Amino acid sequence: MSTPENTIPTFANYINGEWVAGTKTFENRNPANTDEIVGYFVKGSAADVEAAAKAAEAALPGWAGMPAPARGNILFKTAEILEKKFDMISAEMTREEGKTLPEAKGEVRRAINIFRYFGGEGSRLDGVMVPSERERVHVFAIRKPIGVVGLVTPWNFPIAIPAWKMAPALICGNTIIVKPASVSPLCAWRIVEALHEAGIPKGVVNFVAGSGGEIGDALVNAPQVKAISFTGSNDVGNHLHEQASKRRMRIQLEMGGKNPTIVLADADLKSAVENVANAAFFSTGQKCTATSRAIVEDGIYDQFMAALIERTKKLTVGDGMKAGIDIGPCVDQGQLNTVLKYIAIGTEESGAPLCGGNRLTGGDYDKGYFVEPTIFGDVQPNHRIAQEEIFGPVLAVIRAKDFDDAMRIANDIPFGLSSSIQTSNLSRAMDYIYKAEAGLLTINLPSAGVEYQLPFGGTKDSSFGPKEQGPAALDFYSDFKTIYMKY
Ligand code: NAP
Ligand code: MG
Repeated sequence: MSTPENTIPTFANYINGEWVAGTKTFENRNPANTDEIVGYFVKGSAADVEAAAKAAEAALPGWAGMPAPARGNILFKTAEILEKKFDMISAEMTREEGKTLPEAKGEVRRAINIFRYFGGEGSRLDGVMVPSERERVHVFAIRKPIGVVGLVTPWNFPIAIPAWKMAPALICGNTIIVKPASVSPLCAWRIVEALHEAGIPKGVVNFVAGSGGEIGDALVNAPQVKAISFTGSNDVGNHLHEQASKRRMRIQLEMGGKNPTIVLADADLKSAVENVANAAFFSTGQKCTATSRAIVEDGIYDQFMAALIERTKKLTVGDGMKAGIDIGPCVDQGQLNTVLKYIAIGTEESGAPLCGGNRLTGGDYDKGYFVEPTIFGDVQPNHRIAQEEIFGPVLAVIRAKDFDDAMRIANDIPFGLSSSIQTSNLSRAMDYIYKAEAGLLTINLPSAGVEYQLPFGGTKDSSFGPKEQGPAALDFYSDFKTIYMKY
């Protein structure tokens, strides 16, 4: 990184243990104040990916051959370094992505925990040991790394998602090439910097920022790269899968969602309102696990709507660096355009929103991509705003006759990432657990807000391949080798 005083820093790529400068750069701007450039990033190329892939392949035997607890020690040290920079990285995240500072702090904390958790896996990495059918034969299976792995990450969790791919990939003994989202690459860069400072051997970790199309194609076509873990949109995920499957490359995809929260008439009204407002609007609705459909039982619909609208009108929108702000901006102009487009579509389909519906303007708002949290009522389940991912602070509320009707509506979409129910009826909650078509379920909690020590991921069109996080993460980043030994 070059940081002459009073100038905007330029962040280099990291290949084979070196910071690699380049002639072309791109901007990382603050979506709450577009006058502010957070930094410039070196725009990597296909040639950089080639160099990174070669370096990662060369580093593989050394890294894979190191005792896993020693690899774990480097992850522990990385966590410590990130912790020392906690306040700086949190503020950088708010400035590059727009989420509020308390949300950013929560996410940096999570990344630190992820590095500690997978550091601990270094001394736990399990295999399989079972008795043989045969006498004096010993059978067991050990985990081996896959090789060089490409990690492609989205902008909405700029540190947690890179962390939850990098840490398990590394502890299993793989070497990696990280391609961060162009809108918010700095937090992933900070992890790479921390790994460098923690003494990661050269070539084990490589970072190439730049155009998704160019870097992505280069990654999926590099002969050294044996697996890709991707989080982002369905379009890009499907494109990567198509290319990867030609090579029978291992691939894991975490993609879009259209997550429902069912509110039953027996729910605790106050907490149901709080949970839906939180899941729909916090982080500007830009969480993959955000609620974008509330499916509300007839018996509580009017009461729930009145309370939800009242609560939503109290949410404050603004620069997430300021105290007291609940909701930051959309991440960029493109995302803002998408949100406004869907507000127009929703108005056509279901009538004017019951609250919100506008871009915020005037004063500081003019410098950012701010939009009011928006609620549409009596939305039909087949409406576009109830079927298509918007990825913004827009909630479609759908009326359901009863639990079965709500369950049918909740499942009647191609996506299946997260899903939530608000109810005080244990039997309904259990029915829901077995019937909901989603990978992540919450009961009497917001649909968003996951913990790193459990499997993470969806079903249907939302996801493909093994789950991320928790012990399940090891299944993507390692392969079993099975041994039969006569003694
Ligand atoms: P995106 O546009 O698909 O981008 C994701 C990543 O892919 C970025 O690093 C992007 O690079 C890169 N990319 C773009 N084109 C590519 C190509 N042709 N080949 C390979 N890589 C390419 O998604 P996003 O807008 O960043 O993120 C929002 C989406 O992510 C939403 O759909 C959301 O639901 C989903 N998401 C899902 C989860 C989950 O766990 N299921 C979590 C978070 C987000 P550039 O930035 O340079 O374009
Ligand atoms: Mg930015």
